[in-house]
Parts: sequence; structure tokens; C-alpha cells
Amino acid sequence: MEKYELQKLRDLPIEGVAERLGLQVSRHKCLCPFHADNHPSLSFKVSKNTYRCFVCGASGGTIDLVMKYLNKPFREACQWLADENNLIINDDRFKVNGSGFKVKEKPFDASRYERFFERPWLNEEARRFLFDERRLDPRVVRWCRLTSWKDKQGVPWLQIPYYNREGKLVGIQNRNLVRGALPRFRFPQGSQCGIYNLPVLNLLRPGEQLFITEGCSDCWAMLSAGHKAIAIPSATLLTKKDVEILESLTMNHESLTVHMYPDRDEPGERLFLQLQKVLPSLVHHQLPLGCKDFGEYYTLKIKH
Ligand SMILES: [Zn+2]
Repeated sequence: MEKYELQKLRDLPIEGVAERLGLQVSRHKCLCPFHADNHPSLSFKVSKNTYRCFVCGASGGTIDLVMKYLNKPFREACQWLADENNLIINDDRFKVNGSGFKVKEKPFDASRYERFFERPWLNEEARRFLFDERRLDPRVVRWCRLTSWKDKQGVPWLQIPYYNREGKLVGIQNRNLVRGALPRFRFPQGSQCGIYNLPVLNLLRPGEQLFITEGCSDCWAMLSAGHKAIAIPSATLLTKKDVEILESLTMNHESLTVHMYPDRDEPGERLFLQLQKVLPSLVHHQLPLGCKDFGEYYTLKIKH
């Protein structure tokens, strides 16, 4: 990655980056996600494009904020920022960061995590989230090998494994099960959480429909509704590898049709248009009024 490209990531408006992360910015301030904050003590300096918390001292620029908030190493934080902002970064040249030292990242160590998904276990919080709130089909939860754990602080996490098409574990997304708690997601080092539920592609029969959803929870809802589905990450830009996978779908399965219920908002429609460039035959379905995404449609209208 060239210095020039890094600078582009550093120059992204910091308040916009904070909002993309889910922080609520108001008058150049927000609640600090890095300590227990109940009065906004993290402030943004627009002129310098930086943030600083006057209580815990957390500070930095756009890349630091993403690294710290998403618990991602430098390179992944840059990738996240690039994806969120339709920038393309060149992987091969991504060796030196702006200050000149080498950034080397450890690859994802699947052997450390595989056993967690061999005998999935759902704690009370996970069962409440998956079955009471989302009303998912237990068969879907088993197929996705969702499991749960609690960290040292007692915070319950849902552990979501990402497999490639060959069924190899390539990444893990941890979702915080405490409503409204931060960080919402955590990814073990090197996790490649691109397209979700790729193994389902091996089960597609000629003439079948495949649905594309945004994010895992809509994918689980779609599967629970009896459809075959994959999810693309919430990042609005796909990596080159993801694009290749999507393009190969219609090339290898001529009779396959690909469908989508875009979220009922502007980003949802934008995403549909982006995907349509990759999959020109993508079929648009409209969610009924009052349903913002397929997950909501499923819990409100389909499952009773
Ligand atoms: Zn703080």
C-alpha cells in the first residue's frame, strides 16, 4: 500500500468514520467506547481529523480509531476503512505503514478455533437472541455452527464461524450479546470475514434461487424462511475475491437465479445497485412497508 493511499484513509472525515463504526456523534462529541462513559467525553478535532478522550486518554486518527474500536490490526483496519469508503488498496504493496516500519500480520490460525465449532454450545443469552428475538430455525443455527462463550469480564458473545466453499474455517466474527454494548463485534487476528455461508453454494440444485443478504442475521432469517442464502459483509464494497466468487455464481450455474431484498433505506438500494453491476440478473424484491430489513420482515410477518 502506498503512502499516498494511506493518506487517503487518514484524510477520511473522522466523525464520518466514527458514525460508520456505530458511534453517535453530536456537536463533535460522543460517548467514549473505550471506557465506561455516560457523559460524552470523546471529542473530535475536525481541523486535525483526530479524536481524544479526556477521561481515558484514548486518542489518534481514523486508522487508530478503527483499530481500537474493532480490535483489528493495522492492515485490517485499513482494509475496513477502504471497503467502507469505496477505496481500493493494493495488497501486494501493503508492506510499509506511514511511519516507515514494516507491518507484518499473523495469518488466521484456524487450528486454535476449530474445536469450538465441533460441539457448539449456546448459553442463555445466545438462545434468547437466536430463538426468542430472531425466531430462527434451530436447524439453521446448527448448520451455521453458531456457538457462544463468555469472556473474562462475563460478557456473553455469539461466535460466528466463516467457512470457505471447501468448508475450511477462515475467520470468526464475535457478536456482543449485551444489547447496545460496545464493541459490538470482535474478530480474532487474521479473520477473513468476507462472504458468509459459502458452503451453501455446494448444495444448490439447477434452477434454484439464491438470496443475497446483508450481514449474518438477515442470512439466518432467510435460511430459516426456507431459502438458500449467502451474506455479504456490511461493508458496502466487496473485495476482489468476493466479486470473483459472485461472478462465478452465474457462470457456473446457468439456471441459477440470484435474488435480494435490499434494506428499505438508501444504503440498501445503493448496495443493490452495486451488486447488480457484478450480477446483472440480480432480482430486486421489495420489503413490505414497516420492515427495514429481511430479518425484521421474517420475525414480524413470516414467523408467528
Ligand atoms: Zn475514554
